[in-house]
Amino acid sequence: MGTGTRPSDCDTIRPVTAVDRPPSVDKLARSLASSGLPHPLLVDFAREAIAAGQPDEATQLAEAFRRQLLGRVINATGVLLHTNLGRAPRDSGQGDAQGAGYSNLEFDLSTGQRGSRYAGLGRLLARLCGAEAAMVVNNNAAAVLLSLAALADGRQVVVSRGEAVEIGGGFRVPEVMAQSGARLVDVGTTNRTRRSDYERAIDAPGADVAVVLKIHPSNFRVEGFVEEASVAVLSDLGVPVLADIGSGLLDAACPWLPSGPPAWLADEPAARQTLADGASLVMFSGDKLFGGPQAGIIAGRADLVAACARHPLARALRPGGLVLAALQDTALAYLRRDLAALPFWRMATIDVGVLRRRAADIAANVGGARVVDSEAMPGAGSLPGVTIASAAIELDGDHSVRLRALALPIVARVRDGVTLLDLRTIDSADDAYVASSL
Ligand SMILES: *Cc1c(COP(=O)(O)O)cnc(C)c1O
Repeated sequence: MGTGTRPSDCDTIRPVTAVDRPPSVDKLARSLASSGLPHPLLVDFAREAIAAGQPDEATQLAEAFRRQLLGRVINATGVLLHTNLGRAPRDSGQGDAQGAGYSNLEFDLSTGQRGSRYAGLGRLLARLCGAEAAMVVNNNAAAVLLSLAALADGRQVVVSRGEAVEIGGGFRVPEVMAQSGARLVDVGTTNRTRRSDYERAIDAPGADVAVVLKIHPSNFRVEGFVEEASVAVLSDLGVPVLADIGSGLLDAACPWLPSGPPAWLADEPAARQTLADGASLVMFSGDKLFGGPQAGIIAGRADLVAACARHPLARALRPGGLVLAALQDTALAYLRRDLAALPFWRMATIDVGVLRRRAADIAANVGGARVVDSEAMPGAGSLPGVTIASAAIELDGDHSVRLRALALPIVARVRDGVTLLDLRTIDSADDAYVASSL
């Protein structure tokens, strides 16, 4: 169309949406479904492409991301132990497809160059936490150690006296801190610590405070005359706040649960809300409320995550391809809202009525078995004192030794001379085996 010419009929009847109005994010996202990626990620790519004025690029964004995820590759290089392809090949006859043969563990399929083992997974975890970036180490103790070593070596870390605690299994905050090379400055008292206590430590003459560390005292509860300064209250002190939330709840709103957050979660700190409150980094375990394999996740500001990833200790603390593949499966399950692929959340939220019926079905075929009310627990030191209504099969006598000796051992509780099998932690696929064993 030259200048000065009237618009042709063709221009006049052209549908306005095609050029003048951006295409709908949701429609574009749905057109990317063949990538196999979870819908929330496709919405991100659609939004990004539309914002850049290039809706057609959404497909490439999705495809590039899919290639960053861990998956199987065929190694035709002739190098048997290929560092970028996960070194030794795994036996394809055992285990999942992700772990079989060779994988793109440290290989960028787009460029053909060496890649980062955290590239795709880091983006998934960051997306789930609402963070700029994320990385993974072997457990949460390693996450705390690495972040302090990377961000506070030789400098001061301010911790509340109420939080310089032992979290079971020998994870003692002052000892981990000493190993990192950071110097602990404890402030406040065991039961009360205020913002002004942190402020005084930061402003003290000769102070060299690198970060404030908040630790969720997950395995005990102090009640009564207690006060702690929240992450939100500490977020504008001028130094980064690192929060060890430990238990690995991703989002207090639990969008992956159709019925929303269960009442027993109460005030459990969550990664997304802690970051939104102003924490610069959060650290948590992969195998607590996150419901994945043993791992430690560090998520938050991109520059701080990069500093952690660059530190020499990161190499010593890095998880292997199997763990990363399992963590990737868990992260994708959250984004797909696929409760069936999140066994912890599936078991934790099954209606107690369903458990009672399953217990009754099993007990019906076992002489002397009774169905009783029971109390399940989150465990692993998380949510101390919290119980979840459950149902159990009760048998007179202590049968624990014989149950443990089975080909597939059954581990039960024994109390006051009766054996209790709690249905909340038994997968329904194992009900028939449990019934025949009893
Ligand atoms: C569980 C926990 C840890 C230790 O985590 P691991 O993954 O077992 O190393 C550290 N801090 C807090 C607050 C915890 O709850």
